[in-house]
Amino acid sequence: PQAELQQEEIIYRSKLPDIYIPKHIPLHSYCFQNISNVASKPCLINGTTGKVYSYAEVELTARRVASGLNKLGIKQRQVIMLLLPNTPEFVLSFLGASFRGAIATAANPFFTPAEVSKQAKASNARLIITQASYVDKVKEFAQDNDVKIMCIDSAPEGCLHFSELTQADENDLPEVDIVPDDVVALPYSSGTTGLPKGVMLTHKGLVTSVAQQVDGENPNLYFHSEDVILCTLPMFHIYALNSIMLCGLRVGAAILIMQKFEIRLLLELIQKYKVTIAPIVPPIVLAIAKSSETDKYDLSPVRMVKSGAAPLGKELEDAVRAKFPGAKLGQGYGMTEAGPVLAMCLGFAKEPFEIKSGACGTVVRNAEMKIVDPDTGSSLPRNQAGEICIRGDQIMKGYLNDPEATEGTIDKDGWLHTGDIGYIDDDDELFIVDRLKELIKYKGFQVAPAELEAMLIAHPDIVDAAVVAMKDEVAGEVPVAFVVRSDKSQISEDEIKQYISKQVVFYKRISRVFFIEAIPKAPSGKILRKELRAKLATGNY
Ligand code: AMP
Repeated sequence: PQAELQQEEIIYRSKLPDIYIPKHIPLHSYCFQNISNVASKPCLINGTTGKVYSYAEVELTARRVASGLNKLGIKQRQVIMLLLPNTPEFVLSFLGASFRGAIATAANPFFTPAEVSKQAKASNARLIITQASYVDKVKEFAQDNDVKIMCIDSAPEGCLHFSELTQADENDLPEVDIVPDDVVALPYSSGTTGLPKGVMLTHKGLVTSVAQQVDGENPNLYFHSEDVILCTLPMFHIYALNSIMLCGLRVGAAILIMQKFEIRLLLELIQKYKVTIAPIVPPIVLAIAKSSETDKYDLSPVRMVKSGAAPLGKELEDAVRAKFPGAKLGQGYGMTEAGPVLAMCLGFAKEPFEIKSGACGTVVRNAEMKIVDPDTGSSLPRNQAGEICIRGDQIMKGYLNDPEATEGTIDKDGWLHTGDIGYIDDDDELFIVDRLKELIKYKGFQVAPAELEAMLIAHPDIVDAAVVAMKDEVAGEVPVAFVVRSDKSQISEDEIKQYISKQVVFYKRISRVFFIEAIPKAPSGKILRKELRAKLATGNY
């Protein structure tokens, strides 16, 4: 019989060798594995109050929180929601949930009540940990669904206080049997298409992802225990949760928690606490580049500035390099579903590799990457752009209660399809050039067109609608809508914008509305977003 012709796949791996990664220990045990070396060292610094929590204190309090959760009736594999700004209590709640064998889903505290309720309902959250000023956003949902509310700052009527958790007896927690495939974090992401979905990240997945970034033979690869890591990015997003908090804990570094981004405060804190690592996103890079005050502060301790979550242009890269002459600037590339880090720059390794402008690093260790022709599915050689796919233990287990969406993202061979278009050059460096998926990124925040389209179509004056990204100097991208009005409707651009604004967090607000005769669609009914984006690019709307 004729041998079946099998096409060889072209697979890319890290420039560094694979490492040993422990797969059978729970995330919290892995993070605190080396705690005896750092027990009295600062772990969390509250940038607002100056309060410092040592490693020993954080670990003990997290175990108390776990015991308190158990006492409150939170069972293993049940979900708690964190609706919090960056605070030490966020970290303690997340770690406490992990010790309990429970799952934490974090939501943006700026979400509207409808947005928070959607996530709380979809994730079946049993407890919401928040602060007093946000209680009104969740009160109704909590009452209707018999969900408890707990505040970290006070206890308004009907709410519990966080001290109920921190004052519990750590010895009261029964043994919890956690298996590597148990979910520990449940961030929400729309992925390549549709509405936001719960992304199931497991103990094994997050341990693998953190190890890929900071473990192994290269102690200087990324962070070490003498580092002070700035945490101004929101912890409810997996980038800060994983690459700052979990990586920081694993290496025993100090994590400087900044509740709100403000450029002068950022510079002040960098100077005061001698920050060595500054993970940021392009809009913050822009703010630093444009600031006239950087000269007034000593920024020399910063050894590394890392940007991710959205593309960073070369001009901006050069501008920020000039502000931190002693630091290396490199990009990382993440996607919530990928755990989230797919690639990182290796300019910080023991024997550093050159950091190329515009590159977002090379694929992480213990993982495989391929670049796939979106039309044929075949893998592509170097310097040819296609869809970036990744495989490894760090990727999500799947979407919560959505096997169909999971199958649409992770194929039967275990490859996660990112919906991003990029290529790998002769030096293994990954460059992202375009986005195949419909996702819009406003300052690194996700805007799912499907969510806005559903709201638009629900309006009686709107027959059909499509939302796409428009380039914007400050935000990177903003959502704009193409709208088909119903017969005789005179609804205006402003009325539509206001109608949406009332329902969504600030970054999902529609920036422009273009009226159109019909939304271009494929015979399958799929919106031809490319055509709409082309209209924007040529100004033909
Ligand atoms: P999220 O799941 O919110 O982290 O969003 C993931 C998406 O952000 C990716 O699929 C990319 O489209 C985009 N992204 C993340 N990092 C980068 C980067 N360094 N350059 C360009 N786009 C990026």
